Amino acid sequence: DSFTKMNLSRQVMKGLSKLGFSQPTPIQAKTIPVGLLGKDVCGGAQTGSGKTAAFLVPILERLLYRPKNAAVTRVLILCPTRELAIQCHNVGSKLAGFTDITLCLCVGGLPLKPQEAELRQRPDVVIATPGRLIDHLRNSQAFGLDTIEILVMDEADRMLEDGFEDELTEIIKSCPQKRQTMLFSATMTDNVDKLVRLSLHKPVRVQI
Ligand code: AMP
Repeated sequence: DSFTKMNLSRQVMKGLSKLGFSQPTPIQAKTIPVGLLGKDVCGGAQTGSGKTAAFLVPILERLLYRPKNAAVTRVLILCPTRELAIQCHNVGSKLAGFTDITLCLCVGGLPLKPQEAELRQRPDVVIATPGRLIDHLRNSQAFGLDTIEILVMDEADRMLEDGFEDELTEIIKSCPQKRQTMLFSATMTDNVDKLVRLSLHKPVRVQI
């Protein structure tokens, strides 16, 4: 299998080659075609499987091929920890390096005000931890989720273990019902299943 068969844009192909990715990992080979169709994805995959690019590639393709006139934030990616959000932001920045797609990192430990200013610019993609995102949603008029077209929950099991169930529920309910959702989890616990039922619509299950 190769990325060439997936009919990706030149820009994303360049980003993949900049990252040194020439062959898709198994999770990428299974997830990217489903993601490109706009379908919901429920992915069983561990850290290190390459799932970051598995969801970022279809996201970037959609942003490129369904352009928007108004500056709105169209994609929200939730990660359990600051470190994972930073990693995701790094991969995303490289992958989007040949496009004009903008990404914003929204995690704790950084001052709120500059982050708020960045969110006001309506970056295309926001990569956030649930706690910090909720701070912005509750405490400022600067940012809302009503224009989100794609929601990603990465390492959902860890986010639930860390006690973010209420935050996740609030975030999901703040996004439009009509959207694409991709959820990844290393384990499928009862709580993850509950989250799947709350957030995914007829998901395609991908397991590696
Ligand atoms: P992830 O699970 O997304 O955190 O990725 C785990 C590691 O695999 C990271 O160091 C990536 O840079 C690397 N990686 C992801 N996809 C590929 C690929 N298609 N080819 C080579 N390395 C990859």
